[in-house]
Amino acid sequence: MLKIPYEQVLERIKEQTGLDQEAIEAKIEQKLKDLNGLVSKEGAAHIVANEQGVTLFEQKEGPRKINEVIPGIGGVEVVGKITQIYDIREWNNERGSGKVGSFFIGDETGSIRITCWHDQTELMRNLQQGDTVRIINGYVKENQGRTEIHLNDNSKLERNPEGVEIGEVAAPQRQQAPRKEIKDLQEPGEIVEVLGTLVQSFDPRYFEICPECSKRARAQGDQFVCESHGAVQPQYGYVTNFILDDGTGTLRVVAFKEQTQQLMNKTHEQMLEMRQFPETFEAIKYDLLGQMVKVRGKVNRNEMFDRIELMSYDVEVGPSAQEELERLSQ
Ligand SMILES: [Zn+2]
Repeated sequence: MLKIPYEQVLERIKEQTGLDQEAIEAKIEQKLKDLNGLVSKEGAAHIVANEQGVTLFEQKEGPRKINEVIPGIGGVEVVGKITQIYDIREWNNERGSGKVGSFFIGDETGSIRITCWHDQTELMRNLQQGDTVRIINGYVKENQGRTEIHLNDNSKLERNPEGVEIGEVAAPQRQQAPRKEIKDLQEPGEIVEVLGTLVQSFDPRYFEICPECSKRARAQGDQFVCESHGAVQPQYGYVTNFILDDGTGTLRVVAFKEQTQQLMNKTHEQMLEMRQFPETFEAIKYDLLGQMVKVRGKVNRNEMFDRIELMSYDVEVGPSAQEELERLSQ
């Protein structure tokens, strides 16, 4: 199923019908009411687009701009300049073997991660930062709210293809996430931005992970075992919960590794050191209390506690007042 973000659907309707934003949103609201909550806002927007004869998605020949790459498209072609390459990781143990590698490419509209599995990692052996690549027949996936292109056996990767010039590469763009008030967060899966005051934060919880695949490694006897990779020398992941209040309600935010680092302004190495000295978190938690925090993340329903939570993708402590003022004056 193709996932075209709500804002993009709105944009397409605007372009192709000439209706203004207000009129379109009124139609979508009406559709939501008519269908009595049977569809999401995105779903209602798709229906309105169909009713208006709007083409949401054109099958295109040739390469697509990176910002036109959306989850669910198979056989996608893109060209871009390599902005970052990650090491290929290999594993080989009693449970099997494999390889995975990835790199980022960018064009003037954005950047995207390309992930290669197993034999496809051979395709990236000679790549260098700054190379231009053409990906043919990639498969588009969503991973933690970010769009990625995965290569499979039918995919091709051309290094520095002739006649292809990539101009200025756009600065990495954050995924579109509409600002919402906490009281309005209802729909699980929705990607939103929330701004609030941190009213409580908890100690990070550390857990053992497999160094190959980053999944949990569970204690079994005196060793740690990954479901896929068997007994491993574990590394550590961590997660921190905190509570935001934006005046309309309170919200529990879940911050995994990178997001905990952002929240506490610590490196991964510092986080690992602090694992031995949990008392150091008292000072950090005290400093965070009352801070303005901006979070982008995915709305999640915690069934056990019957509450809405936010799984964070980006945590920004003390977001610039200027940016917030500009937003208010818009
Ligand atoms: Zn593993």
